[in-house]
Amino acid sequence: MERNEEGQERYFIVARRSKKGLSRGSIGRADAETAAGDLIGMVYGGGGSARSSGTVKKQDTCPLTRHQAQLLLFVSPASRRLELLRNVQLFTKICALAQEDLVVVKHKKDFQPCLVKNLIQLGKKDKPGVLQMLGFELDLVDTEHDILSKTAPLPFFSAADIVQVAPSHLNTRQPLRDSGDLDFKRKEVSRINSMPALNSCNAKKQSISNTDVSSSIQALSQYSLEVGSMAEVISLNGLTVYGVIRWIGVPEGKKNCWAGLELDNEATTCSDGTFGTKRYFTCEGNKALYVPLTNCKPDSRFLFITNETPKPFEPPSATLLEDLNEDVPPVAEQDVLSHLVGRMRGIQGHFNSCYLDATLFSLFTSSTAFNRMFNRSADSDEGISHILRWDIVNRLRRSGFVPAESVMKFRKQLGCKSFATEEKDPEEFITLLLKHVLHIEPLLKIRSHGELAQDAYTHQIIVEKNQVRALPSVQQLLEMSFVSSNLKFEEIPSCLIVQMPRFGKKFKMFPKIIPSTELDITDILHCSPKECFLCGHLAEYECFQCLMDHKLQPGKIKQYCSTCNTQVHIHPSRKEHTPHKLTDPDHLPEDAPVERHQMQLFAVLCIDTSHYVSFVKYGPNPRSWIFFNSMADRCGDDKNGYNVPVIRSCPEIGDFFSQSEEEMSKADVRECSELVRRLLCDSYMCLYQRTE
Ligand SMILES: [Zn+2]
Ligand SMILES: [Zn+2]
Repeated sequence: MERNEEGQERYFIVARRSKKGLSRGSIGRADAETAAGDLIGMVYGGGGSARSSGTVKKQDTCPLTRHQAQLLLFVSPASRRLELLRNVQLFTKICALAQEDLVVVKHKKDFQPCLVKNLIQLGKKDKPGVLQMLGFELDLVDTEHDILSKTAPLPFFSAADIVQVAPSHLNTRQPLRDSGDLDFKRKEVSRINSMPALNSCNAKKQSISNTDVSSSIQALSQYSLEVGSMAEVISLNGLTVYGVIRWIGVPEGKKNCWAGLELDNEATTCSDGTFGTKRYFTCEGNKALYVPLTNCKPDSRFLFITNETPKPFEPPSATLLEDLNEDVPPVAEQDVLSHLVGRMRGIQGHFNSCYLDATLFSLFTSSTAFNRMFNRSADSDEGISHILRWDIVNRLRRSGFVPAESVMKFRKQLGCKSFATEEKDPEEFITLLLKHVLHIEPLLKIRSHGELAQDAYTHQIIVEKNQVRALPSVQQLLEMSFVSSNLKFEEIPSCLIVQMPRFGKKFKMFPKIIPSTELDITDILHCSPKECFLCGHLAEYECFQCLMDHKLQPGKIKQYCSTCNTQVHIHPSRKEHTPHKLTDPDHLPEDAPVERHQMQLFAVLCIDTSHYVSFVKYGPNPRSWIFFNSMADRCGDDKNGYNVPVIRSCPEIGDFFSQSEEEMSKADVRECSELVRRLLCDSYMCLYQRTE
């Protein structure tokens, strides 16, 4: 058996997906190491029994102690083990928990203070080839009455259920350990009390006064500082400076723990990340400040907010396994309400940034249409696509909050100085983002009069007011815009961003527009077979003038087979029409039904007196809609204040969309709820993606 320097067994966790099919988060024990750097050993399955043996590249793994391996083994799904491991400070504290330590666990969607009672062995009996899992037995603390509750026994908690560990109130504490050689009498569950004297421990328990408990609970409201935390420091001249902790450790020549902060603002005595002769991180010049960790306090600007909402703010920490990070998927539908909705959620607005906050939120919160683009773009360590990917998109999905500093860092690298200071149009920003940051080919390939003509990232709807009925849908507007200019999509776009017909920020062509939740682009797709409007046979002609004909379903696109085309245009009122021939489809189906091509609405960007906000559909349930405003509220005075971004759940949007288009068009906005009204009246851009 492979042992480390201290002669202990070597355990590991698979941190990177290996070619041999071991999934990330799998835990194993290394029995040997080959000269080529492969670990030979076995991987544990459910219950801790050995499941498979084989080899794994050492560089794809992180080493674990036996105790860590046992704690992580009880965490499921396996991917959560890596999340916990990345949170170095918290995990270190969890590994050192002792009896009567105060922790906060996530229990039934609530955050609950608990006292640690015991470490529990779970799973099959410890025998060769089995590694027993470790969980925690906890007692609920009733915060209202300051007494320990005696209600139904709690389940056993895994290390990943613990979200915070309070500073210990006992001086002499011995971490709970699995001694490994106890005689277990119980079959499935064994309590481990390896503390030296249980009696003295009970005596201590009685000595914990209510004040101790409540002061510890109070301490919990101060969030432990770690990499990624926002912190404040009193500088030498007595001013408070704010920044994000980028590094924690013992610098060369020092004996205690120091923090490296990237400050919000430049200071002449600061560096670009160097300290003495060493560099611990890199940032802009004059912004890196190194201070003893004990001089840092949690950023009080945010504590004020977190006091309002009991939800702990979870700063992402991604140092230990940074190179092993993978892109975070969008927040799962069932987790959005607990993870995203609330105050200080989403992207924090700052200094005319709402065009950018609302656009980024629309593009990346629920849609993965652009994720694959990240991998393609040149991804240098500090480049702009790196900032977008890690400091904004993955941060938003992992922690639910992106501070204004990250957005400003991104804005400053957009090339043109005005992007960092002025309000811009979202379409201008999207083109810059997709073309120059992500290096994506134009999303839309458009034919004009049958010739390949335009490549674009967004489509601006251009119609004349009399061409469309008073309350149009995006479906009608897009078709009208295409047919009136004889445009066709060359292929189905992966993402279709449609700009509503309005001029500048003020003038709207239509007071209300219905954002179609499904967009059928079959009739405006080049080379796709289309149906005759009258008889349903394969259409060969298209007539723009027929589109608004009052006798022929005005607003509906008119494509005809050659017989119907002749008949319709015999009518005297249609003699002047100029129908044109459609390009023959690639594959002529013999009476096969025409395949429809639909795209799905995933976000709507709205503007209200030059302030942009966003609606996002976050899952398949029709009522899964959220509303985001990066500057919903403001705290503090004008000079030192900051914006409070807010995400609201708005299932009423789904209820509104559940009606027929006819019913929707009759809706009186004065009777609609506020957000339905904003969606109908303020839409600026509708974002669609392909349905698979
Ligand atoms: Zn026909
Ligand atoms: Zn016609």
